[in-house]
Amino acid sequence: MKILKEILNGVISALFPNHCMCCNEIIDENEFLCDYCYEMIERFDAEKRCIVCGLDKDKCDCKRIIYHFEGCVVPFYNKGIAKESLYKLKLSHKDYYTEFFAREIVLRINEEMPDIKFDGICYVPGDIFSNLKRGFNQAELLARRISEIMGIPIERKALYVKKKGKGQHNLTGHERFINVRGLYGYNYKNTGKTLLLIDDIKTTGATLDECTRQLLFSGAHHVYCACALATTFEKNPKKER
Ligand SMILES: [Zn+2]
Ligand SMILES: [Zn+2]
Repeated sequence: MKILKEILNGVISALFPNHCMCCNEIIDENEFLCDYCYEMIERFDAEKRCIVCGLDKDKCDCKRIIYHFEGCVVPFYNKGIAKESLYKLKLSHKDYYTEFFAREIVLRINEEMPDIKFDGICYVPGDIFSNLKRGFNQAELLARRISEIMGIPIERKALYVKKKGKGQHNLTGHERFINVRGLYGYNYKNTGKTLLLIDDIKTTGATLDECTRQLLFSGAHHVYCACALATTFEKNPKKER
């Protein structure tokens, strides 16, 4: 029976080989990237990171901005292979990409926040229009999978979008913080809880910070964040977006 199963698996993988999620090269089952792409993907170095905002210490803004969340883990820089792969997740509802980023985020959480006992996992809610257009919210997909892997309940409706803000793309860092104020609300009390807040990409941290503020208003005692990618900026405020 075991031999039969192995033969069947062999036939299946010959017929439907597994591909590198970036360059499409054929790779082993249970892998996500080929060796080359795995080497080339740009990861944050846990030793050089600021434990609060998750960015490299020399690019970190924590002296200027006091974030409401207490820590943030991010596996990858928002560029190259990781950026392209997350873009693919946004274009299509692919469990493959979700699985990859969720696993990488959980690895980071286990390594860098080993002593924190999370009571629940929430995520940055998408506005109805983008959710309808895309059919899903990538932050929610990640949060659901992370919740399954970690065995921590998901707080699906912890946060909601109150109103649609103007696009963040052309705003400076400071403007982004002003723009997101009042965009989110909380649905129920989370008194005394330690929560993990998930988003796909951290840019300035403005959205995460506002969602954290709402979770604290809802009674949470501690909020930590985790994202798949983060953008780093050069230390010139004029260039900062
Ligand atoms: Zn590859
Ligand atoms: Zn920092």
